[in-house]
Amino acid sequence: MEWEIVMGLEVHTELATKTKIFCGCSTEFGGEPNTHVCEICSGLPGTLPLLNQRVVEFAVRTGLATNCEITRKNKFDRKNYFYPDLPKAYQISQLYLPVCRNGWLEVTDKDGNPKKIGIHEIHMEEDAGKLIHDEFEACTLVDYNRCGVPLLEIVSEPDFRSADEVIQYLEKLRAVLQFTGVSDCKMQEGSLRADVNLSVRPKGQAEFGTRTEMKNLNSFRAIQRAIAYEAERQIELLEDGEKIVQETRRWDDNKGYSYAMRSKEDAQDYKYFPEPDLPPIEISEETIEKIRAEMPELPEQKKRRYTEELGLSAYDTSILTSDKAYVSLFEETLALCDSPKDVANWIMGEVMKLLNDTATLPENMPLAPKDLAAVIHMVKAGKINRGTGKNVLEKVFTEGVDPEKYVADNNLAQITDLSALRPVIEEVIAANEKSVSEYKSGKTQAMGYIMGQAMRALKGKAPAQEVQKLLHEILD
Ligand SMILES: [Zn+2]
Repeated sequence: MEWEIVMGLEVHTELATKTKIFCGCSTEFGGEPNTHVCEICSGLPGTLPLLNQRVVEFAVRTGLATNCEITRKNKFDRKNYFYPDLPKAYQISQLYLPVCRNGWLEVTDKDGNPKKIGIHEIHMEEDAGKLIHDEFEACTLVDYNRCGVPLLEIVSEPDFRSADEVIQYLEKLRAVLQFTGVSDCKMQEGSLRADVNLSVRPKGQAEFGTRTEMKNLNSFRAIQRAIAYEAERQIELLEDGEKIVQETRRWDDNKGYSYAMRSKEDAQDYKYFPEPDLPPIEISEETIEKIRAEMPELPEQKKRRYTEELGLSAYDTSILTSDKAYVSLFEETLALCDSPKDVANWIMGEVMKLLNDTATLPENMPLAPKDLAAVIHMVKAGKINRGTGKNVLEKVFTEGVDPEKYVADNNLAQITDLSALRPVIEEVIAANEKSVSEYKSGKTQAMGYIMGQAMRALKGKAPAQEVQKLLHEILD
């Protein structure tokens, strides 16, 4: 039987506000445990939350960038549950009137056609603290620094039919959140995490199968692997005539399997009710228009501009706009050396290779635009050749050297006095009699070897065309 996978996504993203959603505590990642806490975010009785208006602004930005309707009158609700990482024993969230609804993002399906993935809603809520299970002391510690950090939960429709569509959507969503300045989306710090709801059904069947939920997946690789594993697990069960249990499962990326955590709660288990400590939120038409007018350029707009105004290919633009760090490096370098194709090629070739080789995330780019521009300038002006340029860039990237000083200190500049080439080339010819006679007897491929020897003798600092010209002059 042929099976179809059906998936929906709940993405949580931590917002890049300076302070928490209902108090003035810092949202900074990585502080000493329990140093970013106060009586409000640690849930002491008698305290009252005060809404950080930036959170609403960020939610509206995200909604506008994902084609959502903005709910003019929305409000918070209380989601009741007890867990040690949530000292109030309830989370302030939005159930009945979320701030954004009915949006979409576009992906490409397996046949290469555009496909809209629906966004059911986006709601604002607060994050919980973090439990740290200490294996040595056999105890669990709790850190409330994250408690009350603002979150947006972006809930998709069950429109995904493959892991590839899921990854494309997440990449687009991440780009939108980064470009609008709403979140830094650092998955390794938990700023962007996804829950995947997954079910399978025989191809052609209209009803959905029973779904399971995998929570808090925090890398694209983990998401892909978890989807492949869960789809196969469900298909095997159904083919053996068994039933799928609706449950929440935890994916263990180290071990490569998932296991049941708890049966899935329904909304009624949380006994939601309207949050009595916060007034409803009204968003005026003027506010929305102001936010719309101040929106930074989004990835899709950048792509169009790069193609139309800078003459880059669709392929190049889609790679360059896939991460905000690439865009910043591209635009700032371009401002210094005005050669879009060169800058794009250096970033997509050498810079991405260096990031990959050193397992560095784009957001931690150790390369200043002025240094990339300096390398491009030197290559374009013929001061160094491309091969040397790559080496210099690597030194800038790994050791932070100044490119111009490095070229000067290591005597890497190309030989511009061409009369200096002839004596070196003559020496090479004299030292390679065998290849020279082969070449003279008609084995033209011997020239490649002689050329290599000549470039090596010149330490790669001579313009290859000139060397070749001289060799032919002498030998032909
Ligand atoms: Zn606080």
